[in-house]
Amino acid sequence: MRLIKYLANLGYGSRRDVTALFAAKRVRDADGRVLRADDPCDHGAIRVDGEPLDPPPGSVVCLHKPLGYVCSTTDVANPVVYDLLPPRFRARSPLMSPVGRLDRDTSGMLLLTDDGKLLHNVISPKRHVAKRYLATLSRPLREDAAAQFASGTLMLEGEEKPLLPAQLEVLSPTQARVTVHEGRYHQVRRMFAALENRVLELHRESVGGLALPADLPASSYRLL
Ligand code: URA
Repeated sequence: MRLIKYLANLGYGSRRDVTALFAAKRVRDADGRVLRADDPCDHGAIRVDGEPLDPPPGSVVCLHKPLGYVCSTTDVANPVVYDLLPPRFRARSPLMSPVGRLDRDTSGMLLLTDDGKLLHNVISPKRHVAKRYLATLSRPLREDAAAQFASGTLMLEGEEKPLLPAQLEVLSPTQARVTVHEGRYHQVRRMFAALENRVLELHRESVGGLALPADLPASSYRLL
């Protein structure tokens, strides 16, 4: 791929914008030599305005999503998770897409990637990747809650297929860790609703074998 297209795909602007970067000699190698639009792409050796490039194609970002943000590129009423990432991330092609969305009122681990295969492997319903949540509830859990979640017969309102077995670890009468292996709409909230309870707070702790780093503050991200 020509360097001009590579930079455009990484969100550095339209072809016209990137052409202007070259014309202004703002694209150089690590030794300060001016690069041209047709030069080969050696990601680690390219500098724009002296800065290393954004993460290369195929990257995965772990964002500690705070409450109130929606997993969308635009929203009229709410801030979006892309507001928490460098502006160029929104302009990349392919886009860094959320790997399984979180509701506006859920915090915690949100992975984003432009690696289509990884995205598919994690969000495909056939893969049953485990997602672990910490839930705070409005009333004490029913005694049969763990058994209901594990049963493989629990039905969500409006659906015809029972849920796959899920694991519930009771931490206190109103707090529990739940691990689900699918990604239905508002799944965790609706699971507790099926047991006549209501989720007050929901936080995703991990996706598959990856846990939200304990030292990653809310609204911050890290390249994995
Ligand atoms: N289940 C929910 O109800 N909400 C989320 O954001 C994730 C899982």
